[in-house]
Order: sequence, then C-alpha cells, then structure tokens
Amino acid sequence: MSMIGLNDIKNARNRIVGHIISTPLVCSPTLSDICGVAVGLKLEHYQTTGSFKLRGATNAILELTEAERAHGVVAASTGNHGRALSHAVRAVGSRATICMSRLVPENKVSEVRRLGADVRIIGNSQDDAQKEVERLVAENGFVMLPPFDHPAIVAGQGTIGLEIVEAMPDVNTVLVPLSGGGLAAGVAAAVKSMRSHAKVIGLTMERGAAMKASLDAGEPVLVEEFPSLADSLGGGIGLDNKVTFPMCRALLDDVVLLSESEIAAGIRHAYVREREILEGAGAVGIAALIANKISGLRGPVALVLSGRNIDMAVHRRVVNATGNPPA
Ligand SMILES: *Cc1c(COP(=O)(O)O)cnc(C)c1O
Repeated sequence: MSMIGLNDIKNARNRIVGHIISTPLVCSPTLSDICGVAVGLKLEHYQTTGSFKLRGATNAILELTEAERAHGVVAASTGNHGRALSHAVRAVGSRATICMSRLVPENKVSEVRRLGADVRIIGNSQDDAQKEVERLVAENGFVMLPPFDHPAIVAGQGTIGLEIVEAMPDVNTVLVPLSGGGLAAGVAAAVKSMRSHAKVIGLTMERGAAMKASLDAGEPVLVEEFPSLADSLGGGIGLDNKVTFPMCRALLDDVVLLSESEIAAGIRHAYVREREILEGAGAVGIAALIANKISGLRGPVALVLSGRNIDMAVHRRVVNATGNPPA
C-alpha cells in the first residue's frame, strides 16, 4: 500500500506555499462553551476557490512534467476539486477538463466554467463521471488527476495538518469532513506523526457514506449516491482504491455520521453564531459538536471548516428555517 508520510507533506508545503493561503485557526467561544473544552476552527473555507481542494490540486499540478502539462489534465469532481484544478492549471499554462454528474449544484458547475475549464456533465453519479474521465484519458491522452486517491493530492491536503499542529501544539482531537478521504488521510498522517496521542475523527452524512461502508466491510465497496446538503461528500471511494482507504483504515480513530437535519443545524449555527457561510460538507464538524455526537471528546479540539461553496438560495432556506427541516 502507498502511505503518505510527514516528509511528503512537508515537501508538498514547500511546493505549494506561494500558491495557497495558510488559513487561520481561530478560537470559537460559542462552541468551546457548548462542548466544555477549547474548540478552534480551521478556516479553510477562506482558501482560494472556497475549499481546501486547492492544496492537493496545486501540489499535483506542480509535480507534473512539462510534457504532461502540455497534454492537459482531466478529473471527475463533485465541484470543488474541479474548481481548484481549473484555477491551479492556470499557474502552469495547462488546461483542465472536468467531468461532473447531474447531482453537482449549478453554482459549482458555473464557477468551473468561469475559470475556463472544459466542462462535461455526465450521468447521475461520480462513478458515471469517472467513466467519462477514463474515456478521455484513453482517447485524448489527458493526465488524470483524481479528487482524492492520489499521493500528491493526499500530501497537499495534509499541509492543513501541519498548520493545525503549529497553531495548536497541544491539540488532542481533530475533526475532519470525510468523503473519499484525501483530506482525512493527509491531515491524520501529518497530525499523528507529530502528535501520536491525538485522535482524528472523520465526519460524513448518513446516506451514501462510502468510506464508512468500506471501513466496516474491510475493503472498498460500492454505495448508492443520494442528494445531500453535504453534496461535496458524495461519491464512491473507487473499488481499486490504493491510497486513501488503507490510510483511513490505519489512521482514523472513528467515523461519525450526521443526518440531513443535523447538517442543516451545523450550517445554521455557523452562520448565526460564528458569522461564517459554510456549505454542508464544511459544516459537519460543527454539526457533530452541537448534536453532541462525539463521545469522550478531549480538548483542545481543532475542527476543519472545509468549504463555503453553497448555493446561496439553499443557504437562505437553511438559515431561515426554524427548528429542524424534515430529514
Ligand atoms: C472534497 C470535500 C470534502 C471531502 O474531502 P475528501 O478528501 O474527498 O474526503 C469535504 N469538504 C469539502 C468542502 C470538499 O470539497
């Protein structure tokens, strides 16, 4: 199995440092109050392109050879990876083709288009989009840069873990949104190699949680994909997963599942109490804390707010709803 380690992540940081923002980790008095332990928010939704995906995408693009850059890159995406890649290729004069399913919200699709990528809308799942990627690789010789299962992507996302430990040296618990596991694997590798006692917990939605189902089964499995407020967490982990499944199995202490109404409450709390606009995937950490879903929580806690690219009409509907919306 290919595991990414602290050195890979430090090398990634040296490579991407001039291209990304090192985001702040700020104290949340309201969440610290609710939880009874210090809670810090890693404001990764302020990353350029509105999500952490720019770190991995930039690291992967900068590792390509001149010849590979000349061919152009292709990826399947739930939106944010595509947006990050479309931004990152501009720095090296390459081109991106992004394949997305019909489940990807229109606001994300139009941002990818605006950045100048070639957009293909294919089928009703990430798996359908991935088939189109493979066709384009075979027919056009594009270089595939997957959203998570790639060493350079994991190492890039892991730079968040370095920044967390630097800002919060006594961190005991790190909460990370979890889909394909690039973010969780990278952050856990960085944090645990510097703070071996710290727990890293993945958070995801109840329906269609592919990594959770795969960890339970002991091998990558297929799950059905459903619409969710946490649309960035949709999609499978790939039946031939090479990097993120073994790393998540070795490094994650737990995976916690959130219902749609809990995720909505997380978005609402972020807005009303923290003054932050988050997409559903970015709010799962807050959702888990306010729903008291993490047993034996030990502080200080660092929580990754992973993205803010929510359709604003959806955001208005969620924050204006009183009480819990129907699940
Ligand atoms: C991609 C994404 C995630 C999940 O990251 P993985 O590396 O696939 O686990 C979480 N939050 C946001 C906002 C994302 O775009």
